[in-house]
Amino acid sequence: MPPIDPRAVVGPLAPPGCPSCRDRRRLWKDTSDSGRAPETWHWWCSGCRQTFEPTPQHKRFYM
Ligand SMILES: [Zn+2]
Repeated sequence: MPPIDPRAVVGPLAPPGCPSCRDRRRLWKDTSDSGRAPETWHWWCSGCRQTFEPTPQHKRFYM
């Protein structure tokens, strides 16, 4: 993905949709693992219960 120009972004991004679920269910930000620092959160899908690695863009916008 190309880098995002911060000046071009006016609002928060919608959470990404799950690539595994047919309805592209919204992913949840999972920081529940106490062994992780908040900066290393994962996306969690309530449908298929998989976790996904956030992209650098996600980390920038959802911290
Ligand atoms: Zn899913």
